[in-house]
Amino acid sequence: MRVVLLGPPGVGKGTQGRRLATESGWALVSTGEMLRDAVARRTPLGLEAGRQMDAGLLVPDEVMVGLVRERSALPDARLGFVLDGFPRTVPQARALDGMLEGRGQRLDAVVSLVAPEGELVRRLGQRRECPVCKRAYNLESAPPRDGRHCDDHPGTELVQRADDQEATVRKRLEVYREQTAPLVDYYRAQGRLVEVPGTGEVDEVYQAMKQAIGRTESSGTTPARRAGSGSGGR
Ligand code: AMP
Repeated sequence: MRVVLLGPPGVGKGTQGRRLATESGWALVSTGEMLRDAVARRTPLGLEAGRQMDAGLLVPDEVMVGLVRERSALPDARLGFVLDGFPRTVPQARALDGMLEGRGQRLDAVVSLVAPEGELVRRLGQRRECPVCKRAYNLESAPPRDGRHCDDHPGTELVQRADDQEATVRKRLEVYREQTAPLVDYYRAQGRLVEVPGTGEVDEVYQAMKQAIGRTESSGTTPARRAGSGSGGR
C-alpha cells in the first residue's frame, strides 16, 4: 500500500509513520529526515536546503519531487511506502499523482492527523530525537528511560532539532496553514482522505490510524465515497 501521512508539524507523523512502515514491511519515506541527513553530510542539497529549513520555510517543490521520485523507486518501496512530510504543497501533490500514474500505481490512503495548535507548540518544545536512529521522544509524555539518552543507543544523548526553537515553530505552523493545509481539501475531493485525531496516547492514535487505513482497504475501488463529503471523485 501507498499511504500519505498529512498533518502539521508535531502532530506525530514521524512516530506513527515509522511504526506503520516497520510493522507493515513498507518503506518509510520521510522527506524531513532525508533533508536533515543531507544537511549533516554537507552535500550541495544539504547546504541549500539547510537555509530554508532553519528559517522554517519549504524547500522548492522541484527539489522535493526529484527526491521522492528517486526514493520511492528503490527496491524496499516495492511492497509499499509511507510518505511522511510529502507532499506539502498542491503542486507536490499533483506531481505525486502524476508520478504514481506513470508507474501504474496510485495512493491507497491519505491519513490526516489532527491536533490543536497550542498542543503542537507544546509538543515541539518538548521534542528530542536520537541522532543515530532518529527515534523521537517527548520529555513530558514519552521520555527516554534515563531522561537524557536514547533507550536503544544508551551512549547517545538526545538532541533538539534546530527548527524546533519556538520562533521557527511558529513560522512552520504558519507555512503549514498557508501551503499544506489546502491538501486536506485536495485529497478529500479525491475521496482519499481519512481523518484521525492525533491527540491521546501514541498507541491509541496508532490503532485509530490502522483502523482508518483498514477501512480504505476494505472499501475497495470506490474512493470517492470514503471521505463522506459527498463531493465525488475526480
Ligand atoms: P519535517 O521533518 O517534515 O518537519 O521537515 C523539516 C523541514 O524540511 C521543513 O520545515 C521544510 O523546511 C523541509 N521539508 C520537508 N519536507 C518538505 C517538503 N515536502 N517540501 C518542502 N520542504 C520540506
